[in-house]
Amino acid sequence: MLIQAHTPVYAVIGDPVAHSLSPIMHNRALAARGLPGVYVGFHVTDLPAAIAGIRALGVRGVSVTLPHKVVVIPLLDEIDETARAIGAVNTIVNDAGVLKGTNTDGAGALKALATVTDVTGRRTAILGAGGAARAVARALSKAGAKVALFNRTAARAAALARQLDLEWAPLTNLAQWGPEILINATPVGMMPDTAALPVNADVLDPTMVVMDIVYSPLETPLLAAARLRGCTTVDGAHMLVFQGAAQFERWTGVAAPVAVMRQAVIEALSPASGPSS
Ligand code: NAP
Repeated sequence: MLIQAHTPVYAVIGDPVAHSLSPIMHNRALAARGLPGVYVGFHVTDLPAAIAGIRALGVRGVSVTLPHKVVVIPLLDEIDETARAIGAVNTIVNDAGVLKGTNTDGAGALKALATVTDVTGRRTAILGAGGAARAVARALSKAGAKVALFNRTAARAAALARQLDLEWAPLTNLAQWGPEILINATPVGMMPDTAALPVNADVLDPTMVVMDIVYSPLETPLLAAARLRGCTTVDGAHMLVFQGAAQFERWTGVAAPVAVMRQAVIEALSPASGPSS
């Protein structure tokens, strides 16, 4: 692509940011759709200055990653209902100088699960009570799933369940609760600690759908255990791609090339591509 003076700029801001797969995913998507644009990573430690820079330079769309997802909110002009309910922004749309915040993580998780199952009425256990768990739990609950939260620190699960009007239970009660869908929304199993399981593998039943939102490694210990027990599995790259696809569509108004984006992520995660994953 020819980069010209009017080529739109997109970015991910985070601290750290070098590990982000978003530039690979979004640049491939822009190219696949023949859209002008370049997507870069900005390592941001001074968030107010970065937001002022986004305004001043007219950066068209921004992905927001840790640790800025919550603290960015008061720096933006508008926040939609999803971002407000989750209390976190993962996407900024620069709409002719007005910075609008939204959050596509929950929609991404829902679409990832939709590749294998309809969540309506399904008993869905979410492991974790952090930012990702909050986004996923809210989206699934709104889509009609019967959601319960299970977390290492039970008090956090209880507090989040109260806010979102969901069930919660101690981790020891997971098997008894009888999940049909199990989602890991904790970092357990993520590189480099790739031997850790967020739950005892004995809770896995062949009828379950098991999704991990950790995507590095692509097959986490939980997903490997679930596959061995005959469960249907959904890897974390699906959520990553679908949350990115929702961003792409907000920024460009063009349908995202989801298969191309997934291919870009899978290639970047393959061991041959080195530490950038
Ligand atoms: P967070 O806000 O820090 O929350 C982490 C949660 O995991 C907390 O509930 C915490 O429990 C639990 N946890 C952490 N370490 C644990 C351990 N050793 N054993 C048991 N529970 C543990 O993090 P987050 O932003 O929600 O992100 C969670 C994961 O999701 C990260 O790995 C992130 O990369 C991934 N993610 C993936 C996508 C995607 O698109 N695929 C999108 C967003 C996030 P306590 O309350 O007990 O501390």
